[in-house]
Amino acid sequence: MIGAGPGGYVAAIRAAQLGADVTVVERGAVGGVCLNVGCIPTKAMLHAAELYDLAREGAAFGVVAKGVALDWGALMERKRAVVDQLVAGVRTLLDSNRVRLIEGEASFETPRELSVRREDGSRESVAADAVIVATGSAPVIPPLPGIDVGGVITSTEALSLESPPKSVVVLGGGVIGLEFASLFSSLGASVSVVEMLPEILPTMDEEIAGILREALARRGVAFHLGSRVSEVARSGGDLIVRVETPSGPTVLRAEKLLVAAGRRPVSEGLGLERIGVATESGRIKVDSRMRTGVEGVYAVGDCASRIMLAHVASREGEVAAENIMGASVVMDYKTVPSVVYTSPEAASAGMSEEEARRSGLSVRVGRFPMSANGRSLIANQGDGMVKYVVDERYDEIVGVHMVGPGASELVAQSSLALRLECTVDELITTIHAHPTVSEAMREAAAATRGTAVNLPARG
Ligand code: NAD
Repeated sequence: MIGAGPGGYVAAIRAAQLGADVTVVERGAVGGVCLNVGCIPTKAMLHAAELYDLAREGAAFGVVAKGVALDWGALMERKRAVVDQLVAGVRTLLDSNRVRLIEGEASFETPRELSVRREDGSRESVAADAVIVATGSAPVIPPLPGIDVGGVITSTEALSLESPPKSVVVLGGGVIGLEFASLFSSLGASVSVVEMLPEILPTMDEEIAGILREALARRGVAFHLGSRVSEVARSGGDLIVRVETPSGPTVLRAEKLLVAAGRRPVSEGLGLERIGVATESGRIKVDSRMRTGVEGVYAVGDCASRIMLAHVASREGEVAAENIMGASVVMDYKTVPSVVYTSPEAASAGMSEEEARRSGLSVRVGRFPMSANGRSLIANQGDGMVKYVVDERYDEIVGVHMVGPGASELVAQSSLALRLECTVDELITTIHAHPTVSEAMREAAAATRGTAVNLPARG
C-alpha cells in the first residue's frame, strides 16, 4: 500500500482482515489529508464556530450568555487534540491488524517491488504480490499574477492561522471555499466568495445550491458569481484582489486570499511510467475493480477516483483489497453522499434534477421547506429545503438534495434509499419520528405526489 489516508489505511485493514500480509508506506502523517489537514480539522473548527454562533444567538431562545468570546488558542488546541486522537487511533488499528507501517517515500522499481526512501536517506526494498496506490491529492493553484504573495493561502494554511482573519476573499465557490467562508464568517470575518461559474457548487442540484447561497448571504457572506480573480497584489497589511465580474472589474481588499479552486491527483514521483501504469492529467486510470492496466497494481482515492471524497476513497480501498484477495467486486458510485458542512448544512445523494433530465429520465420533483418543519423552526433554522427527484417509470427515488439542520446525518437515509432502489411509496409508508427534521424527508417524498399533509393544498 502506498499512502495511509482514508483510501490506503482502510484498504490495508480490509486486506489484513482477509488474511494478507500488509505493509503500508506513508511519507507524511498517518490518516492523510482527511485526518490531518482536511475533513477532521475543518469540522472541528466548524463545530467551534457553530457553538460561537449559538452562544451569540441564544438570547432569541431566552438563553442570555454574557461575555461570549473566542479563545483562538483553545480552539486550535481542541482541533489538534481531536486530530491527534484520531491519528493515534488509526495507528492502533493498523497495529492490531498486524499491518507494517514504513515511514518513507515509495516508488515502483517493478510492478511487484517498491523502493522506499526514508527521511534519513536510507533505502529499503519492499516486495509484494499486489500494490495499491492511494497517494491522494493536492490543491490546484491557478497561475495568476501575484498568487505567491504573502497572505495567499490554501485550506492547509487556513487550518493553522495564528489568529482569526478579519477579512477573507475566497477564490472558488466549491465545497472547500464554502466551508471556509462559513467558518470565517461565523468567526467574525468579512468574507467574499469569487466563483467563475454562474452558481456555486457546480456539481450540486442548482436549486439547492441557490438556497444555500442565499442562506450564507443572509449570514453575511458576499458572492461574486460569474467572476474571476485576475490579479493579486499586496499593499501594506492588505491584499488587493482584482476581480473581473459580469458588470466590470472590481477590487476587493482582504487580509487573506484563500485559494479553493479544486484539487489535483498526486501521482508524480511514483515511477508509474517505468512500470507502464497509465495516467490522464495526473489521474491514475483504473477500471471498476480499481485495477490499473498493469496486473497486480491497483489505485484508489483522490489519485485515481473521479469523485474526490474520503468516504469514496475508503470504499474504493475495500473494493481493491477484496479483489486482490480473490473476490470479484465492482465499485458502485450510485449511493455516494456529498455533504457541505456550512451553516446551514447542505447534502445530497444521487442525481440532481438537471442530471436526471439530461440523462433522459422522465422525472417528478417534490419539495418541502424547512420553514414548515417543527423541529427546524424550534432550532430557528427554517432556511432550508428537501428536494426529491423521482423517476416516473417506477416511482423510484433517484436523487435527494437538502439544505437544513442535520443534513449531513440525514443524507445517510437517502444513500440507503438509493441502494435499495426505494420507491416513493416505500418511503412514505416508513414512519418517521415526530418532531424531527427527518419528517421533512418523508413530506418531500409525499410532495412528489402532491400528498404532503403539511403543505397548503394546491389550487
Ligand atoms: P471544487 O472543484 O469542489 O470547487 C472549485 C470551485 O472553484 C468550482 O466551483 C470552480 O468553478 C471554481 N473555480 C476554479 N477556478 C476558479 C477561478 N480561477 N476563479 C473563480 N472560481 C474558480 O474544489 P474544492 O472546493 O477546492 O474541493 C476540492 C475537492 O475536495 C473536491 O472534490 C471536493 O469535493 C473535496 N472536498 C470535499 C469536502 C466535503 O465533502 N465536505 C470538503 C472539502 C473538500
